[in-house]
Amino acid sequence: MQEASREGRAGKDELIVIGGAGGFIGGALTRHFHDRGHTRIRAVDKKPAPDWYQHVPGVETLCLDLGNETNCRRACEDAAEVYNLAADMGGMGFIERFRVECLRSVLINTHMIESAYRAGARRYFFSSSACVYNTDLQKDIHARALKESDAYPAMSERGYGWEKLISEMFCQEYWAERGLKTFIARFHNVYGPHGTWDGGREKAPAAICRKVIEAKDTGSGEIEIWGDGTRTRSYMYIEDCIEGIDKILSCDELIATPINLGSSELISVNDLVSLVEDIAGVRLERRYDLDAPKGVGGRNSDNAMIKRILGWEPHTPFREGLRKTYTWIEQQYMARKAGKRIVA
Ligand code: NAD
Repeated sequence: MQEASREGRAGKDELIVIGGAGGFIGGALTRHFHDRGHTRIRAVDKKPAPDWYQHVPGVETLCLDLGNETNCRRACEDAAEVYNLAADMGGMGFIERFRVECLRSVLINTHMIESAYRAGARRYFFSSSACVYNTDLQKDIHARALKESDAYPAMSERGYGWEKLISEMFCQEYWAERGLKTFIARFHNVYGPHGTWDGGREKAPAAICRKVIEAKDTGSGEIEIWGDGTRTRSYMYIEDCIEGIDKILSCDELIATPINLGSSELISVNDLVSLVEDIAGVRLERRYDLDAPKGVGGRNSDNAMIKRILGWEPHTPFREGLRKTYTWIEQQYMARKAGKRIVA
């Protein structure tokens, strides 16, 4: 048995708890720890198990609503490390429309961090978002990349962004007052296989892949684009996200210190559509829906801090990650059409 350090990361036989494990990033993180030889992983989500994106063998699976305090106590029992990836969230179409639902995710972090603390966990991770940043800095499509200090003075994205900002503060105060080692990553648009690709919660890369696949399949020859196509974002491939979380948790300089975890490769929606068209081998007529939810004008990740502290940044070229994502969504689309469902 590997000896676990009292201060450091969880040993291979100590319990790791992952909230939101039925989702995209939580599912990938569960697989990551399993593949690295961790023998005690507890995966928790409120979704029924058949709806989880990934089913990892040998992992304890609990179906619990983590907005409830008693459930969080149960989830965190005996944990050495707790990862909170659970949130009611989605792409722009979801977070602009369901602000109350997004705000209510504050209950999840409130109860999870207290339960992790009471359980004596050594490290706690919170998945924050670039939506905490001051929206006034992101009006222009050529807006400069956002650095960590740009969250204050605060003017976060309504609903979702404010919930993330207050939950970050919980993490900072649990460290300051109670000595719980907390870690906070501000994700910038994560994409990849085993994530949401339809139903209204999907983000731009998955939505565009699905629309191109549909257009190819039906022969419609056209695609609807939200906004005028000029808005810019950066997108981080899921494997970079998981690697980044693991590195952040191992770095004591980052305790209670929010850090960007995102790609700095900026791309417009129009260029994203062109990339997917290249992958699919089609050209489509573009119809722009100017009344659809669009979000801020431009948003990119300033990676100076992560490069300085970790000597690393997300590096998967967008074209490469997008090709893998497209292939996975196409498989899901075809399987659904044939009346099947593929679960990893
Ligand atoms: P996801 O929707 O795929 O996963 C979130 C999971 O949380 C879902 O499976 C959902 O069922 C679960 N959940 C929601 N409410 C719950 C509750 N009360 N109790 C238990 N489980 C609950 O989303 P994701 O993309 O995997 O995001 C994970 C985390 O990263 C979230 O906190 C999200 O806000 C954050 N984030 C994601 C992105 C991104 O681009 N995907 C960007 C910024 C931040």
